[in-house]
Amino acid sequence: MSTAVALGVDVGGTNVRVAAVAADGGVVATGRAPTPFGDVEALVAAISGLVREVEVEVGGERDAAVPLPVGVGVAGTVDRGGTVRYAANTGLSDAPVQDRLRASLERTVVVRNDATMAMWGESRAGAARSADDAVLLTLGTGVGGGLVVGGRLVEGHTGQATELGHVIVLDNGRRCPCGNLGCLEAYASGTSIGRRASGRLATWDRGSSMDGLEPVSGADVVAAARAGDELALEVLDEAGTWLGVGIASLVNALDPAVVVIGGGAGSDAFELLHPTLLRALRSRVFGLAGRTLPNVVAAELGDSAGVVGAALLARDHQEDRP
Ligand SMILES: [Zn+2]
Repeated sequence: MSTAVALGVDVGGTNVRVAAVAADGGVVATGRAPTPFGDVEALVAAISGLVREVEVEVGGERDAAVPLPVGVGVAGTVDRGGTVRYAANTGLSDAPVQDRLRASLERTVVVRNDATMAMWGESRAGAARSADDAVLLTLGTGVGGGLVVGGRLVEGHTGQATELGHVIVLDNGRRCPCGNLGCLEAYASGTSIGRRASGRLATWDRGSSMDGLEPVSGADVVAAARAGDELALEVLDEAGTWLGVGIASLVNALDPAVVVIGGGAGSDAFELLHPTLLRALRSRVFGLAGRTLPNVVAAELGDSAGVVGAALLARDHQEDRP
């Protein structure tokens, strides 16, 4: 068994997941518990308990005087000090999760946004490991994003960089859950793909295997498209085009070597979205004749990307210490 070098934690709306991770990104041991809602002290207790449990499991060969560093990814807005400013699905606001966990666990703890952690996982041990410049888009309930530029994770001045789902692709376009109009998330999340199919079904008179489904999920659309459903294929072509539009702007700004598409819906629909996405990208990117387009690839770490990235980022922070 590989030696664990750090622990990664993912705080989701339903479960807190912990993984002990080796230097090469391999997951050595895991644990999980229900996520407490809206209570930072209960969350810190749950994470601390899981960390100690998993640490005992992998701790036989380790020097107990040097506790494993802990990285934590949270779906929501997290500042550079590891305070969760706002996280709707865990009911947290202005919650100093990093400070509280450092006090509880007495070791290096790094708390960041979950998509940021997933980007670091794919960058260090997944689909972007050969690239110094990479973009990640996670398509799920929403659209999350991460960026690596020159081998470094981009966090921004306040820690709120890389909200790539809220890049505007159409002025006054569809309403996004964030309140703005025309964000990429309103066109390319799993939720928005399902919603678009629902809307189109109301006036679609050629028959569809999705007839009678209410609500239609993104996964329903992908399954129908795989079976050749004409409407589902159209809806995914449209989502792929919007993704290509959004990615073209990111490519013009950043010139990445790799664009990684992950998240539940992104991984599920990757091969269906890829051709239209590339077509839209090629027709919109600046200076096509004189440039190499990035490889647009599927994520490799699946739903482990967040815990792997969190663990490896915590280890990097520990090594940065004097
Ligand atoms: Zn938005």
